[in-house]
Order: sequence, then C-alpha cells, then structure tokens
Amino acid sequence: MSTNIETSCAICNVKGNSTTLLDASTTDDLKVDELFSARRLPDRIHYRWVRCKTCKLLRSDPVKDVDLGSAYEKSTFDYSDELVGLTSTYLRIVRRQMSLNPKHAAIFEIGGGNGFFLGAAKDFGFKQIAGVEPSAEAISNSRVDVRPHLVQAMMSDGVLPQDHFDVGTMFHTLDHLSDPVSTLQSCMKSLKPGGIMVVAIHNVNSLSARLLRGASPIFDIEHTYLFSQNTARKLLEKAGYTDVNTGSYWNSYSLAYIIHLLPLPINLKKIILNSRVKKLLAKIPVVLPLGNIWVVGTKPSNLHQ
Ligand SMILES: [Zn+2]
Repeated sequence: MSTNIETSCAICNVKGNSTTLLDASTTDDLKVDELFSARRLPDRIHYRWVRCKTCKLLRSDPVKDVDLGSAYEKSTFDYSDELVGLTSTYLRIVRRQMSLNPKHAAIFEIGGGNGFFLGAAKDFGFKQIAGVEPSAEAISNSRVDVRPHLVQAMMSDGVLPQDHFDVGTMFHTLDHLSDPVSTLQSCMKSLKPGGIMVVAIHNVNSLSARLLRGASPIFDIEHTYLFSQNTARKLLEKAGYTDVNTGSYWNSYSLAYIIHLLPLPINLKKIILNSRVKKLLAKIPVVLPLGNIWVVGTKPSNLHQ
C-alpha cells in the first residue's frame, strides 16, 4: 500500500498555501503503477488538484509514493496513429524558435517515447540527435537509425554531455515530473550557453479545460503540475532560463483521438475505439485548439555555475 505524500509548489517551494480546485477521485484500490503509460485512455482518475495562492501554479496534492522512474520504465507506448500530426506540430514549434541552421545544430529530447520526433529531426537535417526516455518498450519500438541515440533513463545531471547541445526539447513531459525545476536545470547543463530549451505542455487556461473543468482529460493522475503561459514562464525563469517566451499552438489530431479524449463513458469509448470504425476515424484529420502551449527559454551566456 503506497502512502500519501504532501507536495510543494514547484515555483514557490512551499507546501500548503493553496486552494482546492478538485477533490481526488478514489485511488485507493488502484494499482498505481498500471496507471502510468504515455497515452492511457483518460479515465478521470486524479489526485486532489490545488492552486498555489501565491503564484497560481496548479498541482496534484497529496500524491501516492510512486517511483516515477520505474513506473515509466514499464509503461507502454501506444499512440502510433497520431504520430504524423504530432511530428509536424512539434517540428514546426522548434523551427520557429531556432535562428541556427539545423545542419549545424545538435538537439536532444526528454521523454520522447519511441523517438518519433527525433527521427523527424534527423530527417530534417539536424547534425546530431539524442534522447532520454525511461520506457524500455518505447525505445525497443524506435527506428533502427534513432535507437543508438536514445538513453533509457530519467533525465538528471550527467545523463547527456554538458555544454553540448544547441536545442533541448520536451513535449508533454514537463507536467508529468515530480521535480520539474531540477529536470529543467539538468537540461540547461547539457545546453551550450545561448542554447534554447523548447517545452510543450497542456494549457490549464484553455477553452477546453475551462469548459470541461473536472471532466477535462488534463486533470489526470499522471499530471503532477498543470501550467498556464504565466506559470510556465515563471517555472523556466526559476530554473535559470532567460528570454523566456510563451505562446499557444494548434494540434492536428485524428477524429479517433478526439473521441479518445471526449468525456464519454469509458465503455462506450472502448466499443468505438475497438471497432472497425476506428480505422476510418483514425484517417480523418481535425485541427483543434485543444489547449496546448509552448514555452522557450535560453541558457544565459554568462552563467556562473
Ligand atoms: Zn507557488
């Protein structure tokens, strides 16, 4: 039986000092390890969600005592239908932030699953790619020419070479971390001075999150924190990044994925998504402002570490 741990605000480093937004759904009977996978069918299982009174950052509090590294090590990777849309979305976000020609740039990604983005970055002409991903199964499903560049680990100091990369990326990983500031600082150590860190996350102030409230799929047990453009900027600044910018982006999804996210009864979703209709739904592209934001920060050139 895992115990409950009180969490603190990642920006203010303070426990408590919060207001409750959503009470926890029942989690006592669940095998918590089984809840962690890259894209589980959203089942509205979540911890209590609170908002910091000082900085407004949302967090799960309390949480179960789960070793995220071992939970994600065993997690499976099953969103292959959506990879084409995600790949072009992520590549577009990165290219917009870059001043350097990719042919001269080394790029890394944290939590990239089977490395689909890094494969696209390699095809696009990046000089060097590197990935840090805890799931052994995800890595075993990576492209053969990408796999040698993936390290099976949680990101921490020393996992990647220091002062080496021009661009770091993290797509929908930051909001799963229990200590996002320390992970962002480890990323910074691997960037060259002047290198940029590009992060994509859910937007807690998005229209869909506001409309669906507690039924929104972003209020999920896997999310330790949820960000707005404002709190995402504060987090990167706390980690030491400068010139922090944020913006929102639209994703292209298949209709099958939209159904996956909708607040429908889970049995109905299973019937639809396990039927032959799914193949058809997976081919229908839909571009939606589902409430995602990017945030970019620069490693200062005159950093005294
Ligand atoms: Zn705070």
